[in-house]
Amino acid sequence: MAFLLAIDQGTTSSRAIVFATDGRVCGIGQREFTQYFPKPGWVEHDAREIWASQRAVIDEALAKANIPAAQIAAIGITNQRETTVAWDARTGEPIANAIVWQDRRTAGHCDALRAAGHAQTFQRKTGLLLDAYFSGTKLGWLLKNIPAAQKLASEGHLRFGTIDSWLIWKMTHGRVHTTDASNASRTLLFNIHTGDWDEELLALLEIPRSVLPKISASSEIVGYFDLNGAQIPIAGIAGDQQSALFGQGCHAPGMAKNTYGTGCFMLMNTGNVAVPSKSNLLTTTAWKIDRATDYALEGSVFMGGAVVQWLRDGLQIIESAPQVETLAASVPDAGGVMLVPAFAGLGAPHWDSYARGTILGLTRGSTKAHIARAALEAIAFQSAEVLIAMEADSGITLKELRVDGGATSNNLLLQFQADLLGVPVVRPKITETTALGAAYLAGLAVGIYKTKAEIASHWQRDRTFEPAMSRDEAQARMAKWAKAVARAKGWEEVE
Ligand code: ADP
Repeated sequence: MAFLLAIDQGTTSSRAIVFATDGRVCGIGQREFTQYFPKPGWVEHDAREIWASQRAVIDEALAKANIPAAQIAAIGITNQRETTVAWDARTGEPIANAIVWQDRRTAGHCDALRAAGHAQTFQRKTGLLLDAYFSGTKLGWLLKNIPAAQKLASEGHLRFGTIDSWLIWKMTHGRVHTTDASNASRTLLFNIHTGDWDEELLALLEIPRSVLPKISASSEIVGYFDLNGAQIPIAGIAGDQQSALFGQGCHAPGMAKNTYGTGCFMLMNTGNVAVPSKSNLLTTTAWKIDRATDYALEGSVFMGGAVVQWLRDGLQIIESAPQVETLAASVPDAGGVMLVPAFAGLGAPHWDSYARGTILGLTRGSTKAHIARAALEAIAFQSAEVLIAMEADSGITLKELRVDGGATSNNLLLQFQADLLGVPVVRPKITETTALGAAYLAGLAVGIYKTKAEIASHWQRDRTFEPAMSRDEAQARMAKWAKAVARAKGWEEVE
């Protein structure tokens, strides 16, 4: 019997999952690691702790699955994206803490690049917006601010990587320095059209090419990991959202998935066409398999399930996240209440850092149940806006939306999502889609699966939510939502 091992290195925890080849979960290991907030807006991880926790959960997952290492046919890696590590090639020691994707310290650098007129160049070549979210300016920061960095770089000893590269370096004892095209596409250094690092962008960000990893396909053997004496091929790599898209079987153009976790991440496969966005979405590499690159449009919503955490911890009107459904279902509708969860500004398609959370339409009859319902509806409204922008950019009309993430256990949310979109919303049986995608990419590389179609055939629906609302009603609701968003925008004063 062959199994696949997925390494799922997330923002708050390291996980490892052993999968059977039909996608069944056989064993999971999980450990949280330390988050560092050294200054307002800064977020760091200790890359050594990431590796140590990741190494430990691999053994946990194997023990839970109760299989020997030799039965693992291949390893796939999926990871928190954009988080930036730099290390000394001679020692394998990081030169500083990793700068996490959430870290805003390079916002000023991005503003300066924008003021100098470079935003178009970056968007055209990388598909990204010039934002501190991505790795390029984070690496630039390390090179400027860590005393040893420049010297190490000029002597050829400095290595840069996103978390996938860092883990592979550790797993191969420094023999392999690589990343895959999906992770590379989140750096601001990678030209998604040529599939290579871009000299002009490297010059603009003052990054020496010598520090960068080789770019591999998302499904190929890049090296071997000595797993308790067995040499296991490392054969799949993808950033977490791209991996979830693959794990959801969204392999054909026009297929889309939305992950409802802390935030919401929607990706639509656009096939071999990198669709430029007019609506402030990102164009990103979905994966590279053999020589073929597939692309996706991506939109992220900052507050998704997190609005439910706020109902629990901030407002304290529920004791646990699942209770929100009971409370919201105790009223037939939100009673005209709308909640715009712009607690941390608004993401796609608005990108307004000055927007703030707003509750509108309160009357004497409004209760906590209406607010709970409005909060759930807000998750769906925000996702619907992203999807409408995607359809406009791509010219593709969605046929169904596949969903995953913690908040998809909420049936009321998914029903309302289907009502707004006017297409079925489908929850799969296996919701560990992020890890599953990496396992599938690895399995494809070592011949466990012959084709993507074979992989897609393992995908099974748990439940389909059919739209029940009239299109007129849905459009009226979206129009009201747009009105509410307009009220939330630009609330904080621009300094
Ligand atoms: P992440 O990977 O971002 O940590 P998860 O996929 O684990 O997120 O999902 C956790 C999120 O889902 C939390 O923000 C939580 O509030 C939300 N959540 C969990 N259960 C429910 C539920 N039944 N209804 C709505 N939201 C939920």
